Amino acid sequence: MDVSSLLDGLNDKQREAVGAPLSNMLVLAGAGSGKTRVLTHRIAWLMQVEQQSPYSILAVTFTNKAAAEMRERVEKVVGTNMGRMWIGTFHGLAHRLLRTHYQDANLPQSFQIIDSDDQLRLLKRILKSLNLDEKQYPPRQAQGYINGKKDQGLRPKHIDAGGFPIEQNLLNIYKIYQESCDRAGLVDFAEILLRAHELWLNKPHLLAHYQERFRHILVDEFQDTNAIQYAWIRVLAGKTANVMIVGDDDQSIYGWRGAQIENLHRFLKDFDGATTIRLEQNYRSTANILNASNAVISNNPDRLGKELWTEDKDGEPISVYCAFNETDEAKFIVGRISDWQEKGGSLSECAILYRSNAQSRVLEEAFLHKGLAYRIYGGLRFFERQEIKDAMGYMRLINNKDDDAAFERVVNTPARGIGDRTLDIVRSTARQQQLTLWQACVHLVEEKVLAGRAANAINGFMELIISMRTDTADMLLYRMADDVIDRSGLRTMYEAEKGEKAQARIENLNELVTAARSFEMPEELEDMGELNAFLSHAALEAGEGQADAFTDAVQLMTLHSAKGLEFPMVFMAGVEEGLFPSKMALDEGDRLDEERRLCYVGMTRAMQKLYISYAESRRIYGREDYASPSRFINEIPEKFVEQIRIRAQVKPSISKRFAARPATVTTKPNGFNDTGYRVGSKVKHFKFGEGKVINFEGSGEKGRVQVDFVDFGCKWLLVSLAKLEHC
Ligand code: ATP
Ligand code: MG
Repeated sequence: MDVSSLLDGLNDKQREAVGAPLSNMLVLAGAGSGKTRVLTHRIAWLMQVEQQSPYSILAVTFTNKAAAEMRERVEKVVGTNMGRMWIGTFHGLAHRLLRTHYQDANLPQSFQIIDSDDQLRLLKRILKSLNLDEKQYPPRQAQGYINGKKDQGLRPKHIDAGGFPIEQNLLNIYKIYQESCDRAGLVDFAEILLRAHELWLNKPHLLAHYQERFRHILVDEFQDTNAIQYAWIRVLAGKTANVMIVGDDDQSIYGWRGAQIENLHRFLKDFDGATTIRLEQNYRSTANILNASNAVISNNPDRLGKELWTEDKDGEPISVYCAFNETDEAKFIVGRISDWQEKGGSLSECAILYRSNAQSRVLEEAFLHKGLAYRIYGGLRFFERQEIKDAMGYMRLINNKDDDAAFERVVNTPARGIGDRTLDIVRSTARQQQLTLWQACVHLVEEKVLAGRAANAINGFMELIISMRTDTADMLLYRMADDVIDRSGLRTMYEAEKGEKAQARIENLNELVTAARSFEMPEELEDMGELNAFLSHAALEAGEGQADAFTDAVQLMTLHSAKGLEFPMVFMAGVEEGLFPSKMALDEGDRLDEERRLCYVGMTRAMQKLYISYAESRRIYGREDYASPSRFINEIPEKFVEQIRIRAQVKPSISKRFAARPATVTTKPNGFNDTGYRVGSKVKHFKFGEGKVINFEGSGEKGRVQVDFVDFGCKWLLVSLAKLEHC
């Protein structure tokens, strides 16, 4: 391939970045301006023009999916297999290092990764063993504390808790938690990065080796790196590597997880001779979508400031839909998608983005009802589902008996008569004698501390694990998975549950066998054994490679996981105050800017058509909320918007075009007649007492109103029977 074709399809600024001399470089640009494209072409340029070996290149992306895509794109441009190039997420790459150098990292060869759910369980156990009240020390707070410290590169020994008892307790929890992870050979997500960083600091020969090797480091989405990721890159780069980072301060959305936008500035100071290239043309979205997104983000203070323009035509306006409730919203979305499909569009061109995973359920139901295929990224990920984690728990114990997290998960699942009291004895023995839970069981059985039934139950469990371990030793991975699902009793347990949910769980368990069957051992992990590799793969890739990846399906995901992606048609659902921006962000003022960036990320995913919807009432998290449209909707200039249906006539004098719920509503535009009760009015019911009318439908004999009763919650009532009194 000649040089010119490497630069084909790039504008002048992009070419400048792709063909720049070897040096440190920041490409700073807004959404859809081709940052990722530049990064990909730069890799190809390094090999084709600068004659660099793929072996000398390290590329960091934000998701495994993005890494796979980038590899594919580079292979297409270069025309060769890029097997030797290291490309992946920070976690994936750091994990690879730890596997290769587990001894230097002070880890057992069979170490396993635990996700945040496992981490929380471990912490609960520790809090209990320390007799700390969960109310005073919420496990999530301890989890946040530990991960936060690790993200900053801090071990307990680096922390001075001062004279503050709460901080001292948290520090103590951190210490004990870490000790028990170390004993059990468990590594949480933050630990992966921290250990990989410590590997550089503590093992100069390894650092020298990798510095010699990685002459070119490229990082996408740099605005979302945290302190430890930054430090890891910086130490590795040393004075020798050429580092290209690309990013957009307006898309920094992981501040809550320790990401630091300042890393963009810091880069310019810390990396010798670093220069900045700005891209300003957007190639993704229509002018309406782009200008609307620009207008929203312009409400944020302290931006680096980038102007984005497009040659694209205005396109359709952004459609804003006001739904009665979440079901109505889902119906609306599904309806639009089926229209799109009827006109020849494919489902995978449509994405629905939401703020909270909990919103997906109603949408899923609507899709199932309509018979449209959908696919969820993130959220209830395959490997995070309860039944899958149960089965994997057994596989993990077979792999490593000392895996405390797995032990906790399956010791009494399915129930086998091991009660809480017995487990408390096991836990406290483990704690007092610095043993893993398994070792504590061995000890208790040998010393005959446990009495009759408890001892038998524990013994039975241990024998089961040991025999599974022996019997499956020579089995193919998928046969082993199948065997474990049967012998553990999980299949029987879920079969006994009956119902659709249980059926789905069994299907998922079968899917696990399929996943094991199609698992391909990554080349770089060949030394570690198939089972171990499979378990790590599951922990790291959770959900990103769902089984139905190739069917044409609508894409459902959180706004966070949509970063870097693009779709012809995008729906942003639940754009309401309290949900988006989230309640938490509203309570903590400085988080609002980050929510607005998230809104910018969401809007700029759309190429041709953007829908934004909000519901006036929404049942979520087990309660019913009434909300007004998000302030972000009001920040979109009117000229870019088309309102699909607004329930109330909002008086022009109200400055916000999308006002909070109207005080009076007498008619609904879609044909519902007045029921005689206005939304917002107070009523009294002979049995349920006082309440407020919040919704209504139908008219005459069939008219119904929904009332939020002070003492009885929300109820739908037939007007003709309810005999409501106005009060
Ligand atoms: P984000 O900030 O959302 O990650 P980005 O800056 O990484 O966006 P890309 O995903 O690289 O942007 O590019 C956006 C879209 O524009 C892609 O479809 C890409 O193929 C296309 N594109 C980029 N540059 C050009 C160009 N010079 N000519 C035509 N299309 C382009
Ligand atoms: Mg990108």
